[in-house]
Amino acid sequence: MHNHRKVRLNIGLMGGTFDPVHIGHLVTAEEARQQFALDYVIFVPTGVPPHKASGQVTSPEHRYLMVTLAVMSNPSFVVSRVEVDRKEPSYTVETVRHFAETEAPGANLFFITGADAILEILTWKDYAALMQLCTFIAVSRPGYSLDRLRETAGRHGPDLLQKVHLLEIPALAISSTFIRERVALGRTIKYLTPEPVEQYIQKHGLYLNKK
Ligand code: ATP
Ligand code: MG
Repeated sequence: MHNHRKVRLNIGLMGGTFDPVHIGHLVTAEEARQQFALDYVIFVPTGVPPHKASGQVTSPEHRYLMVTLAVMSNPSFVVSRVEVDRKEPSYTVETVRHFAETEAPGANLFFITGADAILEILTWKDYAALMQLCTFIAVSRPGYSLDRLRETAGRHGPDLLQKVHLLEIPALAISSTFIRERVALGRTIKYLTPEPVEQYIQKHGLYLNKK
């Protein structure tokens, strides 16, 4: 018998605050999964976010559970607790290194981000280390131009452009901020996030007070 199994797994990592997770995240991950033949997409909710004051963000446990509910029906989507379980804020480079060295040694790692988030990453001082560990998939997001991103990446040199793939996805002008605002205003969030997540938000009375 011939063995046609691939030797290396392609794994997507999708980091985020996910406060809460919404269909923009899910469409992004699914499109990346198909276009880049990813075996899995691992969602990595942040613990204590380094860039946002902790009091302004819903507890890691709530956010982790909402992502778990959101990915339940997709056999290729999983959730990691690696950042949620850390006491200190995690930086992307540490998390990617964790997967490269511990959880998925030998895999091709792809870090999936929106065009807004990748622009931030490209301005970090340790982005060079990150580029050694993974390839980036930067997806279009309404309000953030992929052309500007192409320019910024180009300015860092041709090496970088090889490591950043731009991916056009169906435009969804949805953000977690938008969902939190709608809940606070008593407006419906049906179809903006999977139903179990919507129910979880209701059950726990999340986002009732605008922050
Ligand atoms: P917030 O409004 O709180 O910043 P968010 O909707 O931006 O929330 P994050 O958890 O900050 O969600 O984002 C996680 C990742 O998902 C980021 O890389 C972000 O760019 C990407 N992302 C979020 N929403 C979309 C969307 N609608 N289209 C494309 N990418 C998105
Ligand atoms: Mg954001």
